[in-house]
Amino acid sequence: MEKRDTNWLIEQLNGTEYSHVDDYITGDDKIRFKHNCGFIFSCTPRALLNNEAVCPVCYHSKNQTTESIQEKINRIYNNEYKLLEANAKFKLRSEE
Ligand SMILES: [Zn+2]
Repeated sequence: MEKRDTNWLIEQLNGTEYSHVDDYITGDDKIRFKHNCGFIFSCTPRALLNNEAVCPVCYHSKNQTTESIQEKINRIYNNEYKLLEANAKFKLRSEE
């Protein structure tokens, strides 16, 4: 069975829009990832690699209303996501 560590994670992220910020712990331990837009968010490697987690800023700006992205973020991140901070960024983006 292949060893899963930070180098493994980097290989998995190669070619995606995401890079890791924190070192890999396990697939179910949240760490921070950085999207190519520059936004940093935390989720589990498993969720990101399974495409269950997405950059909240870009996902919102492309497809979603504030209400629906809040619901999705709450579901994915077990209500741990800092929505107030995210909302501020969303608002700034929509005013561009
Ligand atoms: Zn993004």
